[in-house]
Amino acid sequence: MTLLTEEQREALAAKWVKAPFVNETCIGCGACVAISPDAFDLNDEGMSVVIAQNDYSDRWVDDSISACPVSAISWK
Ligand code: SF4
Repeated sequence: MTLLTEEQREALAAKWVKAPFVNETCIGCGACVAISPDAFDLNDEGMSVVIAQNDYSDRWVDDSISACPVSAISWK
């Protein structure tokens, strides 16, 4: 598993590919990982991080956004 870096995020944005972003309010509940295991994982601190992908459109990200109890996930 490779985490999405800012450079990769910028490269995707240049191609008009949306990538999800997790902010610092994440409480590590794991809901996003359960719904979108190809897009999110929990890091060593138990916080959600975004996995590097070339396209997130078929990875249930919108459902993870809806399920997040603290609205920590957005499209950036
Ligand atoms: S659903 Fe929200 S609070 Fe839960 S792990 Fe994912 S980003 Fe964090």
